[in-house]
Amino acid sequence: MSRVTRLTPFQPVTIACPICEHEQQHHKIKATLYTEKNRDIDLRPRRVDWNPKVSPKVDPKLYYFWHCKHCNFCADYVFYQSPFKEGNMSPMRFRKHLAKSLDRDPNFPAVLAVLDPSSESEKSDFMRTIRRNLLAIYELEAVEEVRDRECLQIGAYYLRLAWLIRDIKSSKMKADRYKIPTRNLLGKIRKVWPKVALTERDMLMQAVKYYHIGLNKSQVVSTTPMEIQINLIIARIQLQMGALDEGQKALIVAKKKATQFASIAQKKEKEGRLSADDIDRMTTAASKSVSLVRNVETIFEKLRDAKLERKLNEAMDLLKESTETDLEARREILRSKGFEEKVVLKACPPIKKKGLLEFLKSG
Ligand SMILES: [Zn+2]
Repeated sequence: MSRVTRLTPFQPVTIACPICEHEQQHHKIKATLYTEKNRDIDLRPRRVDWNPKVSPKVDPKLYYFWHCKHCNFCADYVFYQSPFKEGNMSPMRFRKHLAKSLDRDPNFPAVLAVLDPSSESEKSDFMRTIRRNLLAIYELEAVEEVRDRECLQIGAYYLRLAWLIRDIKSSKMKADRYKIPTRNLLGKIRKVWPKVALTERDMLMQAVKYYHIGLNKSQVVSTTPMEIQINLIIARIQLQMGALDEGQKALIVAKKKATQFASIAQKKEKEGRLSADDIDRMTTAASKSVSLVRNVETIFEKLRDAKLERKLNEAMDLLKESTETDLEARREILRSKGFEEKVVLKACPPIKKKGLLEFLKSG
């Protein structure tokens, strides 16, 4: 029998905490060994395909947040390695404001006690991630400048938290293991953090709120492709929640910006004043934006058609129960039940007069 070489998914990283500067070892997941697949509309991966030699085949989502055991700072691994890489917020200023806000916050010790994010006390990776995710949100929200401006990251953290809740709902194994502990944890944290989002929907709504604020105020949002991407994630989250109108609004903004950007890129290319590299970068970004918009548009159209069909079926069922034969009266029944005009007209179409062609055919 041949010996199988096993690959570990973990890559140890020793790094100084961006807040207290203590060095500590964390674990990163090797990105080249797996692919995340079958994403939800809001991009939650439903499947992870690992290189077959890898063991254990962990869920990479559960290694996204790093926690400093010296000062209890919690953030995603990218932020740990380069905090506030773009934009105006400096790590120095953030550190100062964070310390000041948390010192003044009478609830923080209690929040910390409930979330207890140290890896030693929590054996389950999943529950540890929920704790870390909540703590990372709490700490970022504590800093006014981050909460009111540089808050795209908070939006992303709320989205991830919603993903974890959906993980529990969509797997029996996870539901059996984590449903009750999560409910208990959220119940406890609510007492010391009354504004905490408790349901998947509230978490998604918070994500949308912070993406909106970031879109309008963050210094990081400095390019059109980035504006397009944020509008698209807002659209995706809204569509995930079934809010088709809100999703469409964000999608329309993204589409308009992508079209404008593509035509600017074309114009610049014709003018020939930019370098070949710059033109190349711009046209690549433009066509990528257009295709990203197209992806979300396809999702929107499918959902819209499915909703129309569902509503049409409901309308037809309702009409079956009625003895009314007058066309306009039948339409009124549907209108009075709040059906959209589109559905009303589809369910009670105008009676066609025979066209000449049909007249001849039936002759
Ligand atoms: Zn620290």
